[in-house]
Amino acid sequence: MSQDTQIQGSPDMAEPNPLPCTLDELSTAFGTQNVTPETRQNNIRSLFQSIASRYDLMNDLMSGGMHRLWKQRFVSRVKDLPEGPIYDVAGGTGDIAKLLLTQLPGREICVLDPSSKMLAVAKERLGEKCSYVEAQAEDWPLPASSVSGATLSFGLRNFTRPSLAFTEIARVLKPGGRLHILEFSQPDAWLAPFYRFYARLVIPAIGALVTGNRGAYRYLVESIAGFPPIEVVSEALEISGLEVVHTEKVLFGIAAIHIAEKVDA
Ligand code: SAM
Repeated sequence: MSQDTQIQGSPDMAEPNPLPCTLDELSTAFGTQNVTPETRQNNIRSLFQSIASRYDLMNDLMSGGMHRLWKQRFVSRVKDLPEGPIYDVAGGTGDIAKLLLTQLPGREICVLDPSSKMLAVAKERLGEKCSYVEAQAEDWPLPASSVSGATLSFGLRNFTRPSLAFTEIARVLKPGGRLHILEFSQPDAWLAPFYRFYARLVIPAIGALVTGNRGAYRYLVESIAGFPPIEVVSEALEISGLEVVHTEKVLFGIAAIHIAEKVDA
């Protein structure tokens, strides 16, 4: 069985669905397919398990190394947090944790991710400089008000219950603690057709060549194309009890940075 066939509900390239009006509409969207939340969660879990060893190489190839600049810019915004640990949620292979260790020396940094294989790559890179938690953002094994900051880079669109994840993050953050999100967004209108062409044809082809898993990269592209604009993320953050303090477009809106703070109750 090829790796492609392990992912349910991923047919040939279809027209994208209309953009969701709320983040939770993502719960049943697997790329352009409608699936149950359980199928979506399982598909995403097996997808990251299957591409973990090639994930970093693929990121460099797909973005021409640009994701590194975006991540540096993202981490440079992380400051003025209360005392205490910082969790890199959906931390994957540890890119953001590595940058946080440099940006905030002496801070306790923890990588949280449900994929054992993505975490294994992070552990190999960062060893005991960080700690690691195998968990979903929707269900943290931590007490309330125990975390001073959370970063979330290119993980949000993979969550099956984004609102629940935000509510959990609001629960574990200390008052004054902040959630920093870096995620794909909707590019400015003039750029959209060129970007769509590149994303829908070139990225799955590179993915097939490097990982042998065209289906995984087709999902990634479809999930990028179907991710809602900044305002929809802001609304979900505010509903979860976090106050949006900053948003910023990255590269004409291809990505965006969102910063939200837990205010005193
Ligand atoms: N943050 C890393 C980066 O910027 O390179 C990795 C991003 S990778 C595209 C997405 C990560 O989200 C994967 O490691 C995956 O296992 C994780 N993920 C998927 N569903 C998740 C969930 N419900 N909660 C937390 N992490 C999740």
